[in-house]
Amino acid sequence: MIQIEKKYHFYAAHRNKNADEKCGRIHGHTYKVICSFKFEEINKKSGVTLLFSEIDKLVEPIIKKYCHWLLLHEHDALCNILSLANEPYITLPFETSAENMAVWLFTEIKNNSNLPIFKISLAETLSSTVVYEP
Ligand SMILES: [Zn+2]
Repeated sequence: MIQIEKKYHFYAAHRNKNADEKCGRIHGHTYKVICSFKFEEINKKSGVTLLFSEIDKLVEPIIKKYCHWLLLHEHDALCNILSLANEPYITLPFETSAENMAVWLFTEIKNNSNLPIFKISLAETLSSTVVYEP
């Protein structure tokens, strides 16, 4: 068994009106993501499990989809106002907490990449990281 960790990041703004006042204001993060994969064996000829670049090709589009966007809960009242102002944003079916974002990204990567992901870490700040390992 070989474990591979791949690091990614994306920049996004969000707010969580159902958390505290600080989280309820629109603000941004540099989200740092670490994806952990488990591979059963190393290819005897190449000496690798799967090329890091092949993992990147599958994972980066999923993560970069959210880069430089305002992420809002689909029921956030701001959606109506932003739509009227013709301002772009992405809605998600949950409050955009670090916990929910970690679970969401894990599921997106698992379902869309077919990679053997088993754990994801998502850091919202230098001091706060959520680790999800179902
Ligand atoms: Zn935040």
